[in-house]
Amino acid sequence: MDIQYPADFQKVVAFHGHVCPGVAIGYRLAKAALAALGYDNPEEGDLVTIAESDRCTVDPFQIVLGCTLGKGKLYINNTGKQAFTVGCRKSGRAVRVIQLPYNYTPENDALTRKVLAGMVSDAEYRRYRAEREARIREILTVPDAELLKVEYVEAQLPDKEMIYNSPCCEFCGEQVMEPWTRLREGKIACIRCAIAVVR
Ligand SMILES: [Zn+2]
Ligand SMILES: [Zn+2]
Repeated sequence: MDIQYPADFQKVVAFHGHVCPGVAIGYRLAKAALAALGYDNPEEGDLVTIAESDRCTVDPFQIVLGCTLGKGKLYINNTGKQAFTVGCRKSGRAVRVIQLPYNYTPENDALTRKVLAGMVSDAEYRRYRAEREARIREILTVPDAELLKVEYVEAQLPDKEMIYNSPCCEFCGEQVMEPWTRLREGKIACIRCAIAVVR
């Protein structure tokens, strides 16, 4: 990997598994959200992210802001936009960061489609890699104002993770957290077993 990438971006790339314009954009958006909320260290703010995309851009929020799915700090409300609301449970403040409109040139778009279809020559593939690398550098270096906008919003933050009782499903014997239990013939059932009779 290119050693000139900032250390925290390298962590993002290691987690995501490849470097791409999407993780670069997500990284810039996550950093902008953190700055707008007035934190250097995301742990201070007990942050929650509501992501409007489930693509490459979401992973930096897990690494840079610590808003992981497993900690109950990441919610996907997919609208197909590169937009993310980051809320602070401590202050109650929230910001929504959005990537400004950007379009690749029609030539670049056509080349990407050819690459995805696996129909490029070596020379074309090298050109694709070079253009992509240039775009990633551009994303990582342009001023915020050219890449994204930040708006302060009123956000209803999801409740903190709760601890639930986990009774056993009376049909398959597997444990299931209470909010996901159903009744089947008056007995506690997991969703899989309850659905088995509905079908
Ligand atoms: Zn990616
Ligand atoms: Zn069951």
